[in-house]
Amino acid sequence: GERLVIVGAGQAGARAAEAMRQAGHAGPILLIGDEAEAPYERPPLSKELLLGTADRESIRVLPADRLPSLGVGVRLGCRVTAIDRTARTLSLSDGSAVNYDKLLIATGARARRLSVPGADLPGVHHLRTIAEAEALGAALRAARRIVVVGAGFIGLEIASAARRLGAEATVLERADTPLERLLPPAAGRVLQSLAEVHGVAFRFGVEIAAIRRDGAGLRVDCADGTAVAADAVVVGIGTEANLELARDAGLAVDNGILVDGEGRTSDPAIFAAGDVAHYPTPINGRRCRLESWQHAQEQAIAAGRTMAGQATTYGRTPWFWTDQFGRNIQMIGLPSRDATVFVRGTAGEAGSVLYLLEGGTLSAAIAFDDPQAIRDARARIESGAPVDAASLGAVPLPAATSAS
Ligand code: FAD
Repeated sequence: GERLVIVGAGQAGARAAEAMRQAGHAGPILLIGDEAEAPYERPPLSKELLLGTADRESIRVLPADRLPSLGVGVRLGCRVTAIDRTARTLSLSDGSAVNYDKLLIATGARARRLSVPGADLPGVHHLRTIAEAEALGAALRAARRIVVVGAGFIGLEIASAARRLGAEATVLERADTPLERLLPPAAGRVLQSLAEVHGVAFRFGVEIAAIRRDGAGLRVDCADGTAVAADAVVVGIGTEANLELARDAGLAVDNGILVDGEGRTSDPAIFAAGDVAHYPTPINGRRCRLESWQHAQEQAIAAGRTMAGQATTYGRTPWFWTDQFGRNIQMIGLPSRDATVFVRGTAGEAGSVLYLLEGGTLSAAIAFDDPQAIRDARARIESGAPVDAASLGAVPLPAATSAS
């Protein structure tokens, strides 16, 4: 049978490999990853692993014997450096070459770096891998003061973990609210209030100029001339897709590799899945590069099945969760900055829900400790039917809102 090769042994790569065999593919399957680690899930890295309630073996995508028992070849610690689409050959960092009939690119994303002096000093952390999570967990335990650069989901989760472990946490953010690229400001401020109630300090509108050594610790210099002292600094300013392989091979890319609903790129022999893929959502055909567990899992399975000959379309409504400050916060739909925000209950408290309305329909919902509200919202979002706030039991979210 055909030889199916997967580049990137993360959640998407591992799930796709399993799905190919389960869909009945009888030929060779090879999974190649540059990390030395067997595939693992990343959500616990900023949660349970930081807090010490999970360890590296408990976060594996698959049991250790799963892929061998399916007859899937695995090569770890090996980087794919180029794709030759004409010869259908991959070049590997160990100097060898691998042929493919169909290829899945599941190379994920990497943490974006600050480009300022001192960005690589010891004590400046990023969070994408197990090793980085273990190093950050140790640093949070030893630190009295933590500075988090970036008020995105990962930055807020790290601030939450720092507070739980007893450190002071200051979040520095260039924008005026948390998650500014994703959420309407009023919704971002609900997350801000929740963090503030738990002792996190924020500074918005702050540009980082440099990070310097200061005695035994570090000092973050801001462009406005102010400085913040820290024992450790964590940079959580988003990700960049690992799409160079695809781009250099001439595949169509945006900020991710463009794929259709079945995961196919602009080359019919090459597919892409997970964080690196830029896919058509079921919501008005809007495309995006989604960084979420559900997408890495299910869009990869659809691509794997399609590659195995069982065409499968991934059409799930985006869903995401984050755990911070004792709350399980789930988000469904595709939020946009321009949505109008309504609230049911007291924003940020357990059982409260933020509803994002656009053009008379529900585009997204964010629920605090209320998974049932997410299931209900999913149905309304997917129906696309007109919705009014009153029927949701919601009222306009006041501009200044606080959580307790
Ligand atoms: P990755 O997991 O990044 O795997 C890609 C793999 O490919 C990596 O091992 C990489 O090293 C390897 N690779 C790259 N280039 C090459 C190459 N050229 N050759 C060989 N190998 C290569 N999602 C949620 O829904 N909820 C959460 O609460 C949540 N929390 C998160 C917390 C953290 C700290 C992080 C980092 C992510 C979180 N996510 C969360 C997102 C979720 O973990 C990702 O969407 C998911 O891991 C994406 O899987 P992936 O397989 O596409 O990419």
